Amino acid sequence: MQLKDTSLFRQQAYIDGAWQDADSGQTIKVNNPASNEILGTVPKMGAAETRRAIEAAERALPAWRDLTAKERSQKLRRWFELMMENQDDLGRLMTLEQGKPLAESKGEIAYAASFIEWFAEEAKRIYGDTIPGHQKDKRIIVIKQPIGVTAAITPWNFPAAMITRKAGPALAAGCTMVLKPASQTPFSALALAELAERAGIPKGVFSVVTGSAGDIGDELTANPTVRKLSFTGSTEVGAKLMAQCAPGIKKLSLELGGNAPFLVFDDADLDEAVKGAMQSKYRNAGQTCVCVNRIYVQDSVYDAFAEKFQAAVAKLKVGNGLDEGVDIGPLIDDRAAAKVREHIEDAVANGAKVLTGGKAHEMGGSYFEPTLMVNVPHDAKVAKEETFGPLAPLFRFKDEAEGIALANDTEFGLAAYFYARDLGRVFRVAEAIESGMIGINTGMISTEVAPFGGVKSSGLGREGSKYGIEDYLEIKYLCLGL
Ligand code: ADP
Repeated sequence: MQLKDTSLFRQQAYIDGAWQDADSGQTIKVNNPASNEILGTVPKMGAAETRRAIEAAERALPAWRDLTAKERSQKLRRWFELMMENQDDLGRLMTLEQGKPLAESKGEIAYAASFIEWFAEEAKRIYGDTIPGHQKDKRIIVIKQPIGVTAAITPWNFPAAMITRKAGPALAAGCTMVLKPASQTPFSALALAELAERAGIPKGVFSVVTGSAGDIGDELTANPTVRKLSFTGSTEVGAKLMAQCAPGIKKLSLELGGNAPFLVFDDADLDEAVKGAMQSKYRNAGQTCVCVNRIYVQDSVYDAFAEKFQAAVAKLKVGNGLDEGVDIGPLIDDRAAAKVREHIEDAVANGAKVLTGGKAHEMGGSYFEPTLMVNVPHDAKVAKEETFGPLAPLFRFKDEAEGIALANDTEFGLAAYFYARDLGRVFRVAEAIESGMIGINTGMISTEVAPFGGVKSSGLGREGSKYGIEDYLEIKYLCLGL
């Protein structure tokens, strides 16, 4: 594995400040998608271990909540520093279990750490209100308090950042958290737990339970001690978890699927638009929920854009993420590659033309060629469903109204992007597109300082920014009679 600090590679779960195996002794194998080698195993835990983690989080809550904001902040700050000090090892571990190029993994560690840094700072700014009273002898005060014990379930595409943007605000607010990471990428999560311990986060405040998604998820959603669940993953699983949380009226943050449109208007800077589309489409081999899924280009610039885009796609280098200069690693597994193939076959059967790529990469396994298709019909599967792979479909549109209508023709509303220079058009389009985030003349929107989240079937709540901590706070109104 060649880590500088081998103790970051943990093959046990972290519950109540202790490294533990499953009660059953069973384990799950973790695979390297670049080579199909087994990297190691993690415990296959279920309801009983999850319950113990929740009980530990409940025991840890009063002391953690009662620390001053500055005391919590200092421990989080130390956690942030340790992540950055170990950026190389954490990045390597991530590439090994996830497949993304090493530069992207290290970038994700910095991004992940930035949430801990940001919320360490925000911990000190959880302000309430005083409201002018409604009667002469009344005073009204609003305070904010931590929700309590919280749970998080996270996906494999960002093995570190999806954790820290939940754990950062939760711990800053004074909540405790039980996390279930994705079974494909548990080692990044366990390394974060190791660093949390070194940072002095007390036992029980942050536990990581690995194992059966169904069994752990059932306990996290049914257990009345858990007051809030934050989930990032598919809309299908999100809806199921929401239903499971309904009987206990648990609070929810859901960051679900997207189907991001990318519009290129006739007044766009085409070279910049190509750059933005490349960044947003092919990052993490197309496996992010804000990756461009549908590219709409206005008639008069369609051919010019397609030509420039094709030239850029042809330069992408596919390979093992640990190798120098690689842009695109393997997809997470064969199922992911099968979905890309399905979207290509469906589009081609309905008249689309493949300009570049179009098939499994010669490296084998789950490697897939970066692909560009033109003349894709509007009712193709790739227009309706999230591909989550390195496939860029180009569609045509006539005018602003049609572009907006096509962009909004989806149940999802996470990210959207468009390139235009006319100021009136910029405002009209930005206001008309139904999504939580819009990149205007840029393909990169993610940062800890801005609110990340979606509308429609893309989710509930926001992560990052000053808004992100609100998802972990309850408002309490005090009415004081004089
Ligand atoms: P993806 O397709 O990105 O893997 P999923 O929604 O399937 O998205 O998975 C996201 C996270 O949800 C993972 O940690 C996964 O293990 C977990 N998960 C999947 N199914 C369930 C379930 N029924 N209950 C709880 N968690 C689940």
